[in-house]
Amino acid sequence: MSDWERSSTARVTAPARPRKLAKVPFVELADGRLQGVVSSGSDIERVYVSSVVAGTYAFACSTNNNRPCGGARGSFCNHVRALINEAVLQYGAERVARYLRVEIVDGEPSALTITTDMSNRRPPQGDTKAAAPVFSRFLRHLAYLELAPTTAPLPEMQWFPPTRAVA
Ligand SMILES: [Zn+2]
Repeated sequence: MSDWERSSTARVTAPARPRKLAKVPFVELADGRLQGVVSSGSDIERVYVSSVVAGTYAFACSTNNNRPCGGARGSFCNHVRALINEAVLQYGAERVARYLRVEIVDGEPSALTITTDMSNRRPPQGDTKAAAPVFSRFLRHLAYLELAPTTAPLPEMQWFPPTRAVA
């Protein structure tokens, strides 16, 4: 199976998913940070952009409107915790621990031991400068997943027969 055949399958099934956001719709290990987007439990219009810096564990959390998260004071808020959990699901605990430079003292790395280990070092408050680029990458990711209408054609879509593209 060629790459485009494989990706065509993924693209056909993706829009069938409900439009409700997953708890953590976007997570990445990039720019020396674990960072991503966590949806608010109460308001579907609001999401949080959360991040943890590798090595220092400086953490930041703010809404997509750039309001600071009330829970992220002095210790990880629930969004940062949810982000770590999701990263472990997607990348595996070993890789997340290695990337963040967390040394697991006891036993195997897991979302819990990684979170506990970082929390125990009293991580400092980071800045939210990275929130805007992370959020815009998330929107692009979302548009790609949901085939939201865009003004520019997606190069990946060009293999569709003309009849489909016009419809
Ligand atoms: Zn938060």
